[in-house]
Amino acid sequence: MDKKIVEKYRKAGRIASDAREYGMSLVSENTLLLDVAESIESYIIKKGAKPAFPVNIGINDVAAHYTPKHDDKTVFRKGEIVKIDVGAHVDGYIGDTADTVEVGTNRYDSMIKASKEALEVALDLIKPDIDLSIVGSAVEQTIRSYSFVPVSNLTGHSLKQFRLHAGKSVPNIRTNVKEKIKKDDVLAVEPFATNGAGSVGGKTGGNIYRLVRDREPKTENSKKLLKYIKENFGVLPFAERWCRDKVDNVEAVLKELMRAMIITTYPVLRETGRGMVTQAEHTVMVTENGAEVTT
Ligand code: MN
Ligand code: MN
Repeated sequence: MDKKIVEKYRKAGRIASDAREYGMSLVSENTLLLDVAESIESYIIKKGAKPAFPVNIGINDVAAHYTPKHDDKTVFRKGEIVKIDVGAHVDGYIGDTADTVEVGTNRYDSMIKASKEALEVALDLIKPDIDLSIVGSAVEQTIRSYSFVPVSNLTGHSLKQFRLHAGKSVPNIRTNVKEKIKKDDVLAVEPFATNGAGSVGGKTGGNIYRLVRDREPKTENSKKLLKYIKENFGVLPFAERWCRDKVDNVEAVLKELMRAMIITTYPVLRETGRGMVTQAEHTVMVTENGAEVTT
């Protein structure tokens, strides 16, 4: 990989990692989710990167794709399991990382440990020519050794410039998919553990949007907002709160862009059996004989 690109991945990874730690330190009883998300995103910008997606905050059985709206009044409550998932990019080169914390109690230490250890085991395996299914098997085995189950339909993913999901999936279970890790792959590895059914699903919108089709919308306001989205986020996910001051009545304009199928929204993913979910995630660059963790 080009040295300049490597440096950009490293910088994005470092900032995402610091932002994750900073965010984790902010989670406490009665704090607004919104304040934590916005503090993390401001931190990323202050350090010289940009958010690669809105900070995802997943509470209890919510595994992914929830970010607070601009007027979200939800606060953290004692006993909740909180996943903070952070992305930062430098010129489109992304660091994607997540961790889990319990608010004020310690009932789920072993589940938090299960996803963390599964991540470590997975990272130790990563090098060129290894089958991704081997990584998935190791993740599954580690999580099961703690008497939890992996979330089977959430995976890690390859990253490319301005692309959060660039084609390869890093499974969290044993699979029959035959795909090998290659040198210079950049991979986000993210095991999820649960005491539920081991899968996620959902239909409710989670306030996270993404451009899917670049075509001319009808109204002036929607043209203006689309231009802003293209120039500032490209095809990376974004939040409604990031474009509130760009057009009047942004929610209606976003709805219009949705109806025209120019943008789409991610549904909030909840554990199918309403189980608790923990997550740990790092981004790695695959080297000649191993992997360099950037986050
Ligand atoms: Mn992530
Ligand atoms: Mn990810």
